[in-house]
Amino acid sequence: MSRRAAKNAAFRRRYATSAEFREQCSDRNREQYQKHRIRRMRAQRLWYAKSGLECSRARSKVLRERYVLLHLQAIAKLGNVCKVCGFSDARALQIDHVNGGSGREENNGRRYYQRVIDDTSGRFQLLCSNHNLIKAHEEGKIGAVRRKHA
Ligand SMILES: [Zn+2]
Repeated sequence: MSRRAAKNAAFRRRYATSAEFREQCSDRNREQYQKHRIRRMRAQRLWYAKSGLECSRARSKVLRERYVLLHLQAIAKLGNVCKVCGFSDARALQIDHVNGGSGREENNGRRYYQRVIDDTSGRFQLLCSNHNLIKAHEEGKIGAVRRKHA
């Protein structure tokens, strides 16, 4: 466990067990919120003004672009094609855990794609939607339908 993860775990334990600590946290959060409110609002306004777009739209556009870029980077890292059949349209390519484990871990979102990009253990692979589904059937992850086809 990394130092940061250990620290987070200790924090969560303390937060879960001590009402006094929870109270302290919420006081501190409120304080920090008030302390930085004006500065944050000003920074946000500047950022929106610079983007040249209407507020909420600017934000969702930037987030969407980042998301798409990360997805493409993750797919590129895994070779750009389905491992089984070589299918290469990114819209129907899915990142698969080689040895299972998808249930234990979130399997989409920016953090997940970043993990795939940073991974050096080789535990991810690329499958097209069809082969990912077929794999799930073969591993018994899709119960009712599997029984029907067995
Ligand atoms: Zn395939």
